[in-house]
Amino acid sequence: MNELVTLTAAELGERIAARQISSEEVTQAHLDRIDEVDGDIRAFLLVDHDGALDAARRIDARIARGERLGPLAGVPLAVKDLFCTEGLATTAASRMLEGWIPPYDSTIVARCKDAGMVILGKTNLDEFAMGSSTETSAFGPTHNPWDLERVPGGSGGGSAASLASFQAPLALGTDTGGSIRQPGAVTGTVGIKPTYGSTSRYGVIAMASSLDTPGPCARTVLDAALLHEAMAGHDAMDQTTIDQPTPAIVEAARKTDVSGMRVGVVSELAGDGYDPQVVARFREAVEMLTDGGAEVVEVSCPHFDLALPAYYLIQPAEVSSNLARYDAMRYGLRVDDDGEHSAEQVMRATRGAGFGAEAKRRIILGTYALSAGYYDAYYGSAQKVRTLIQRDFDNAWQTCDVLVSPVTPTTAFRLGERIADPMAMYRSDLCTIPANMAGSPAGSFPIGLSQTDGMPVGMQVMAPIMADDRIYRVGAVLERSLNEKWGTSLLAQAPELGGER
Ligand code: GLN
Repeated sequence: MNELVTLTAAELGERIAARQISSEEVTQAHLDRIDEVDGDIRAFLLVDHDGALDAARRIDARIARGERLGPLAGVPLAVKDLFCTEGLATTAASRMLEGWIPPYDSTIVARCKDAGMVILGKTNLDEFAMGSSTETSAFGPTHNPWDLERVPGGSGGGSAASLASFQAPLALGTDTGGSIRQPGAVTGTVGIKPTYGSTSRYGVIAMASSLDTPGPCARTVLDAALLHEAMAGHDAMDQTTIDQPTPAIVEAARKTDVSGMRVGVVSELAGDGYDPQVVARFREAVEMLTDGGAEVVEVSCPHFDLALPAYYLIQPAEVSSNLARYDAMRYGLRVDDDGEHSAEQVMRATRGAGFGAEAKRRIILGTYALSAGYYDAYYGSAQKVRTLIQRDFDNAWQTCDVLVSPVTPTTAFRLGERIADPMAMYRSDLCTIPANMAGSPAGSFPIGLSQTDGMPVGMQVMAPIMADDRIYRVGAVLERSLNEKWGTSLLAQAPELGGER
C-alpha cells in the first residue's frame, strides 16, 4: 500500500501546503488504491478519475503561486451519493435517479471545493439513505473492509468503508437516525452528527427534513474536526440553518483533556439485547475517561426507549412527503411513456419500478400515519414523544456536560442477516436515534475490538445543542488512550486488505 494513503488528512494538508508532496500525487495514490481494492469493497458508485486529477492540479498551481489555502487544500474527499454534485451523476442509490446529473453543487460540496478539497467520487448508501447496512442500495451492497462477509453499516456504509480501506482520508455523510455514527462504529472510523441546523441541507437529497443532518466522516478525531469546520455554518439557502458561529471544534480536538468534565452514562442504553463484548469495550472506554479526570455518573433518560417507535412514524411520514416529488415528470426515471398510457399510469408505473422495497415500505407507512383519522393517533403521538425525549436531554444537562453510550447494540452483522427482518434492521439504531429526535450533536469513536468476532466497537458521545466541541474533546481523549494502550491506531489492526496493516 502506498504510504500516502495511510496519512491523516491533517498530515496530507500540511505536506501539500509545504510543497513536500503535490495534491496530484496524493490524489493519484488514492485513485490507485480505489482501483486496487474497490472491486471487493464496493464503496464507490462513481469515481471521477479525470475530474479529481484536474482539481488536484489546479490546487497545486495555486499553492505554487504562493496562495495560502485552508488546512485541507489538496486533500481528497469521498462524497456520499446523496449530495448533489454539479456535473457528476447523483443517484441516492436509487433506480429512480439513475443517470440524473445535478445542475448545481450542494452548499456543503461547494464549501469543500472552496476549501480546496478534491472530490474522488460518490459513495454507496442505502436507497435514499433508508437502512442500516447499505443493502437497500439499488446498485448492490458495500462490504466491510474488516470482514468482506459483513455489512459496513448504513446508510453511509460507502463513506465509512472508503475510509476504513484507505481509499479516502475524508468523507461526507448524512445522519437522520444514525447513518454517520453507526457505519463509523462498525468500521472502526470516526463519524460526527453535528447539531441539527448547523450544517446546510441545501442540495442534499431530502429524506426526513426535520432530522437530516450532514456531517464529517474521518479516520481521526482531528480530521473530522477539520472537515466539520469547513462544512458548517449558516446558509441562506437552508432556512433551518442556525445563524451562530460554529463552536471551536478544531481547538477542542487538539485539546485532549477531559479533566473536570461531567460524563453521564445513559442507563437505558445497555443491558438486555446488547452484545456483551460491546458492553465490555464500552465500560473500558468509560474507565479511560475516568482516568483522564472526568467525573462519571449514571443518568436515566426514561423516554429514550420510545425513540425508535416514534422515529418510525415521523421519519416515514416525512419520507412519504419528500419522495412524492419523484413523479416521473421532473427527474430521472420515466416508465411506460409511450403515448398509450395516461400521466397517472406513467406515474404509477415509474414509482413502482423506480423505488426499492424499503422505500416503498416507508412511503406506505408514512402515508398511513398521516392519513385523516390516524394523524393524531400516530404522527401526533410521535411528536409528543419527541418532546419527552428532548426533556430527557434537558434534564441530563442539569448534571452532565456530555452523555455516553454504545453506538450500536452489536458489531457489524453479516450481509443478508437482517435484510428480510425490518425490525431487526431498525434496532441497529436504538442508541443513535434519540440525538436525532432532539437535534443534539453526537459522535461515534472507535474504542476497541470484540474478542468474539474481531470487529470494531464504538462509543457514542452526545452533547447539548451547539456544544459540538465537547464531543471532540471526549473523542480526542478516547483516541489518545486507545493509541497509547495499543501503541498503534485501531485501523492498523484491520486484517483484511493486503495484509500490510
Ligand atoms: N437506519 C435509519 C433508517 O433507516 C437511519 C438512516 C439515516 O440516518 N439516514 O432510517
